[in-house]
Amino acid sequence: MKSLSFFARLIFCCILTIFLAILIFPVSSCAQSPQEEYGTAAVLLPDGQKRANVSDFRGDLKQWEEALAIPRPNHSEALYATAAKIKAYLAAWRVPYVTQEFTLQQHKMLVVSFAAFVLAMLLGVAVFRKKPLLALALLLAMPALLIAEFELFVPVVSWVAQKRAENIIVSFNAAAPVRELIFAAHYDSKTDIFDHIQRARVYWFMIPSFGWGLLLVVLVFLARKYSVLGGRPERIVVSLAVAVFIAYWGLVAYAMGGYVLIPEERQSIGAVDDGGAVVTLLALAKDIQEGKVGVGQSNITLLFTAGEEINLLGADAYVKARLREKGKRPPVSLINLEVAGQNGGIVYLEKSGVFLKYYEADPGLVGRIDAAVQAVTGVPIKAGGKVADDSQRFMAAGIPSVTIGNSGLPGYGMTGFHGEKDSLQRVNYRNIELMVGVLGRYIESY
Ligand SMILES: [Zn+2]
Repeated sequence: MKSLSFFARLIFCCILTIFLAILIFPVSSCAQSPQEEYGTAAVLLPDGQKRANVSDFRGDLKQWEEALAIPRPNHSEALYATAAKIKAYLAAWRVPYVTQEFTLQQHKMLVVSFAAFVLAMLLGVAVFRKKPLLALALLLAMPALLIAEFELFVPVVSWVAQKRAENIIVSFNAAAPVRELIFAAHYDSKTDIFDHIQRARVYWFMIPSFGWGLLLVVLVFLARKYSVLGGRPERIVVSLAVAVFIAYWGLVAYAMGGYVLIPEERQSIGAVDDGGAVVTLLALAKDIQEGKVGVGQSNITLLFTAGEEINLLGADAYVKARLREKGKRPPVSLINLEVAGQNGGIVYLEKSGVFLKYYEADPGLVGRIDAAVQAVTGVPIKAGGKVADDSQRFMAAGIPSVTIGNSGLPGYGMTGFHGEKDSLQRVNYRNIELMVGVLGRYIESY
């Protein structure tokens, strides 16, 4: 009993230390603040409106944005209410759409990370009981679980909390299409303990932690085989090593599943992530329907997904359904929108991936969207790092894709999402107008 309480205190201290280290480590945005970037774009707008046919939505964008800006996590009823609002706007403008129902593991992040934490604790028990094979099996089960759930999209444990959700799919069909251009934005939101940047720091230690776990297995093996590590100092060292391992996976569970502890009033309303993108696509739908954008020989698909924030589930369902389709379709490509409609110039994300494999943005699409960005804003597109977003599902299926958004500068940049900083004050409506103009221009460039 005495050793257990010592062990418990040890784990507690380790969790506290890791937690404090991550919190105290300063959160800063990676890029410099290119004020002039946004300034130039804004100055160009009056001219751009005539030259590049940028619609003036007056107060409309603000009204749509405010209607959507409620916490709408995948496990909430608000997810359905948000889908209903999007459909109501589309119906009011007589924009043709269909819905795609799919099964959504609504607490995927919580369930998977908690299962990994339980495996880590069991591994600790196996180490103390000096069972190396069991410890190894438990250690191997951890990456196997994560890969199955997050990379292969097999709900090994996350099926325990499922519900139905829907993607909303708008189609504008050309008479004789030679291509299909898909534009996507996710309408779900998320609140997390950490933002993207802090979370990435926590996840960075995942692979080293498996090395650490392997070390524990080797220690147990040695202890059994050579009857070493019997003394008190060695036992303390092993206890500490086990505690660090368990504490780390506790932290992962806290980072992924801690959202259940956040009260309603502190939930993110996802104004920019990805409310700004949804509003952008609504405006684009309206522009196309009203004939302000000529689609030429392109079929246009606007895809509003759910489940993005819990590992791209809506995009996964959409792409899988398309791959099952029989019959020939013209070649397809994707422009995905993430964090569009905050301050700053337009950026594209160089890579998209969950954690094992990262896919490159399609250079041809980047070039073409850059030409549209320059035509409308007068500023070239910039590269903006890597991300896990809906485009990953399309890229994995071999569909040329790129994700674009706004840099967020001046302002929080790419930090402060999944929390209260993603507020309506952060939305830049003029940038949304410019983005709609860019997408229209891009469509007309074919
Ligand atoms: Zn997002």
